Amino acid sequence: MPQLQVNIEGKGGAYARRLAGRATLEANEILLETLDGGMQGGAPSVGIMLLINEEPGIAVLGQTSARLFVMAAEAIKAKYGELVGGVVASADPATGIAHVTVSGETVCTRCSKRIPDSFTFCSYCGHRLRNLHRT
Ligand SMILES: [Zn+2]
Repeated sequence: MPQLQVNIEGKGGAYARRLAGRATLEANEILLETLDGGMQGGAPSVGIMLLINEEPGIAVLGQTSARLFVMAAEAIKAKYGELVGGVVASADPATGIAHVTVSGETVCTRCSKRIPDSFTFCSYCGHRLRNLHRT
């Protein structure tokens, strides 16, 4: 399995020399899919599929461990901070099916963290965000 390499310098072009001299095609669809037991040792993996309309018969496939994929996401989060404050995700332990809810977001007036605007309490500091009395 190829090694996942992530560059978070944020300047762009870190891989330019790797691309030099190669034909490049723009992916029209980027598909990510988790695979239960996708690694040889049974750990979950993430499949990355690039579909290219200019070459209809060609798709590019990549796969890495879910652990490494999450580590890359954590590195990006460390650099840029919480980018998706309006996302709440959880998985049903019985089915393994994950549910992701994307809502608007608001900023806690006490701690200034970004949180989903559907929350009545700040999940970071516990501050009450709105009156729970609904009419
Ligand atoms: Zn707060």
